[in-house]
Amino acid sequence: MRKSRALQPVVVSECAYKVFSAYFGIGCGETPHNVNEQLCALGGRIAKDGIKVMFALPLLAISGGGAHVVIGGGTWFYAMQVFAQMQVSLVGSVHTHPCKLPVFMSGPDRETHRRMFPDGASLICNPQRNEMQAFRKDGKRLPLILPD
Ligand SMILES: [Zn+2]
Repeated sequence: MRKSRALQPVVVSECAYKVFSAYFGIGCGETPHNVNEQLCALGGRIAKDGIKVMFALPLLAISGGGAHVVIGGGTWFYAMQVFAQMQVSLVGSVHTHPCKLPVFMSGPDRETHRRMFPDGASLICNPQRNEMQAFRKDGKRLPLILPD
């Protein structure tokens, strides 16, 4: 029987959570920054018992708005290099769907996921509603374990 890794959880460290929750202003209502889409690369390890997210690295937008974000062409590779120096790998991303946008995997979200971290996780967050979910490449949800 083929073993499925579909339900292996995404486990977020306190260090990573502190960075992206502060960057996104989770729990702060609408701020001048978080009404636009924001993005962090996630560094960690993919293990048999789940995806361990250890670090979050904010990726600054070169343009964007309430429903999209554009980063520079080399930005993912910059993140990979930073994570390599920390002896971890790029295991996914966390980005916001702010204000009235629902939390779901859009077409562009799936494309980025398949291209940059096919076995990793996409975390999508609505910072105003303090809502967050984790997804795998086909758009199905993964269990998400956040620090207390
Ligand atoms: Zn998205």
